[in-house]
Amino acid sequence: ATMPPLLSAIANAGRHGVLVKSAVVMERLGETDAVALDKTGTLTEGTPRVTDARPLTGSGLDEDEVLTLAAAAEHPSEHPLARAVVDAARERGLDLPVAEDFDSTPGIGVTASVGGRVVAVGAPARLLDGSSDAHSARAAVVARELEDSGRTAVLVTVDGAPVGLLAIADRLRADAIATVASLASLTGAAPVLLTGDNPRAAARLAAEVGIGDVRAGLLPQHKVDVVKELEHAGRRVMVVGDGVNDAPALAAAHTGVAMGRAGSDLALETADAVIVRDELRTVPAVIALSRRARRLVA
Ligand code: ADP
Ligand code: MG
Repeated sequence: ATMPPLLSAIANAGRHGVLVKSAVVMERLGETDAVALDKTGTLTEGTPRVTDARPLTGSGLDEDEVLTLAAAAEHPSEHPLARAVVDAARERGLDLPVAEDFDSTPGIGVTASVGGRVVAVGAPARLLDGSSDAHSARAAVVARELEDSGRTAVLVTVDGAPVGLLAIADRLRADAIATVASLASLTGAAPVLLTGDNPRAAARLAAEVGIGDVRAGLLPQHKVDVVKELEHAGRRVMVVGDGVNDAPALAAAHTGVAMGRAGSDLALETADAVIVRDELRTVPAVIALSRRARRLVA
C-alpha cells in the first residue's frame, strides 16, 4: 500500500529534523496564518553569557560576591539565564554555597535561601515593582542602562534589598532572519514576538530580525492572551517556544512547536511538534510540507 500523504509528510518532517506528534498536527501545521515566536532560546541561540556584574553602591558586595549569591540561587534552575549565571561563576572559579528552599516563578525569576538569607534573582521590573527606596531607584537606573544596550538585566536581591545586577547577552540564531522572512511570505503576515524580557532588549532584537509586532514583559498567561487575541481575529496561530513560560501558550495555540535541544521538558511535552535538529528554518519547512500533503489528501 502507498503511505497516506499525512503519514509520509510526518516521515519527511522527521528527515528535516522535526518530530510531528500526530497526523492531525501534521494537517494543522499547513493551516497556520499567524506565527508567534518566543525570544530567548527560540529566536536567540539560548546560550546566553553574563557580560557584566554590577554590585550596587552601598551593598557592601563586590562583583564576585554578587555573582556567587546569584549562581547559588540559580543552580537548581533549568532556565537558560540560570545556566549563564552558573557558568559565569564557574569560569571565575567561585565556590558556590549550597542553596535551600529553591523556588522559581516562570517569567519572573528564582528565590532560594543561601547561608540563611533569602536571595532572589530575576526581572528587575518585577522584583522592584512597588518599591521606592533609594537602593531600588539606583537599581532601576542601572537596569535601564544595561537594557538600553539590548541585553537582559537581571536583578539580585538579598532579604528583599537590591545588591547588584547582571547583564546577560544572547546571540541571534544564524537562521533567524531568513526564517522570519519565509514565515512572513508563507503566512502573509509578519510573525509576532512574545517575550518575558524587557521591552528595550526585545525591540532591539525585533528590529534586527525584521519583526514589527513586539509584545514584551509578558508573563506566561499574557502569552496566552496574545494567542487568544489573534485567534479571535480569525487567525490560526502557531506558537514557537522553548521554556516552561511558553507551555501555556503552546497549549493554547492552534499548533505549538517546541525547540528540542534546550527546550524545557514541559515545553516538549506540551508542544504538538518538536524541533529536534535545533534549526529554526525547519518551521517554515514543515508548514510547506503540510500544505503539500493537504493538497494530496483533498
Ligand atoms: P522569554 O519569554 O524571552 O523566553 P522568560 O519568560 O523565560 O523569557 O523570562 C522573562 C524574564 O524573567 C527574563 O528576561 C528575566 O528577567 C526573568 N527570569 C525568568 N527566569 C529567570 C531566572 N531563572 N533567572 C533570572 N531571571 C529570570
Ligand atoms: Mg524562551
